[in-house]
Amino acid sequence: ANRNPAQPEYLQAVTEVVDSLWPFIQLHPRYAEHGLLDRLIEAERTLIFRVAWVDDHGEVRVNRGYRVQHSSAIGPYKGGIRFHPSVDLSVLKFLAFEQTLKNALTTLPMGGAKGGADFDPKGRSPGEVMRFCQAFMTELHRHVGADTDIPAGDIGVGAREVGYMAGMMKKLSNRADCVFTGKGLSFGGSVMRPEATGYGTVYFTEEMLRHAGRSLEGLRVAVSGSGNVAQFAIEKAMAFGAKVLTASDSAGTVIDPDGFTPDKLAFLQEIKNRHYGRVSDYAQKLGLEYAPGLRPWHVPVDVAMPCATQNELDGQDAAQLVANGVRCVAEGANMPSTAAAVRIFVEHGVMYAPGKASNAGGVATSGLEMSQNAMRLSWTRDEVDARLLQIMRGIHTDCLRYGRRDDGSVSYVDGANIAGFVKVADAMLAQGVI
Ligand code: NDP
Repeated sequence: ANRNPAQPEYLQAVTEVVDSLWPFIQLHPRYAEHGLLDRLIEAERTLIFRVAWVDDHGEVRVNRGYRVQHSSAIGPYKGGIRFHPSVDLSVLKFLAFEQTLKNALTTLPMGGAKGGADFDPKGRSPGEVMRFCQAFMTELHRHVGADTDIPAGDIGVGAREVGYMAGMMKKLSNRADCVFTGKGLSFGGSVMRPEATGYGTVYFTEEMLRHAGRSLEGLRVAVSGSGNVAQFAIEKAMAFGAKVLTASDSAGTVIDPDGFTPDKLAFLQEIKNRHYGRVSDYAQKLGLEYAPGLRPWHVPVDVAMPCATQNELDGQDAAQLVANGVRCVAEGANMPSTAAAVRIFVEHGVMYAPGKASNAGGVATSGLEMSQNAMRLSWTRDEVDARLLQIMRGIHTDCLRYGRRDDGSVSYVDGANIAGFVKVADAMLAQGVI
């Protein structure tokens, strides 16, 4: 805590992981040697830089840009870029740390990183967004590369922003390497990358339920968020026969007792992706109930999938979900549940998957995009989907391996933390003290 003052999110993420690892390390003392844990919780490199750009009125604007290159133990740094006013060092350090363990879980050779800026794309014109992305790359380009560090999208950074940044990178480097994933299909993107995080979260949920002798068929689901992850989690949950009752954004929640249909989802996507609109617009146009300022967790459901942002589900929300009979919680977002919420889920025997396990499908498919780019090939949707499903099932198996408790139940938190750690730790031990 002394070395990371005023970084609550980072300390929260590290504490959760170290709590899981401690009993395991005591049983396997070689992981206590060579300062391994101390090195693992210190990012290899952190870059902070000025991003100056000119808005539509000719005013100079200044934002702060970051790239946290947390670990390259098992491969080049890899992790998304977030544009949101809440971005600071603590948020990006927690995300880069989590990314390191998550990427290890995918079994693909990717280290962990995260970056972004405290830029708010909301209300900015397309021209302003493009100029900001270009200004951001005039510094970041020095630090990334196909075999060094490969960024992607995250909150506030979708295909449009990735396109602008990848374009500027190409111009500055005079190379067409795979420096970004999540690119458009017309310049090296992979089919299924937009869908991958949401689909992967649902695949993981189905694996958890199957392991407990159930399935998503007929279950009621609450999804939070309405961005990339949420949209495709809704789509896949519907495909598995679940009834999705909610979606949300930072202003409120839409509640639809009849559940989403493919047509309703297409309409939400049109509003969010084409018009950069709000969930309230969607609710109003379809005459659905809209709860301003509320999150979806008061709605009675069997499965909750938080797909918006960190710490969006607190202890009170968790208690409400439990009181309403929730059976399973799978995180599409990164660290959406607070530590108090996780404790409540565990105490009440709710199947709970932390984001680093259940949302790893996005970065896994980014890894597949890198492979396709390196081979100068494009796989079909079926090929990518089959690999995604296989990777999510593999992560579930790893969670069982390291997370099974004496009473036969499964701690997906311990399972994911230990499985990810073992892969990174073994690579670090083999490479000496660096
Ligand atoms: P988007 O920007 O597409 O969507 C983000 C959604 O979350 C929006 O609905 C947004 O609402 C809402 N949101 C953002 N910040 C807040 C906040 N402070 N309070 C309440 N709601 C908020 O991002 P993604 O869907 O890509 O990412 C969502 C989550 O999933 C993040 O935690 C991200 O790190 C994680 N993730 C994403 C991956 C990906 O492939 N995209 C991969 C793995 C994890 P509003 O419009 O009002 O801001």
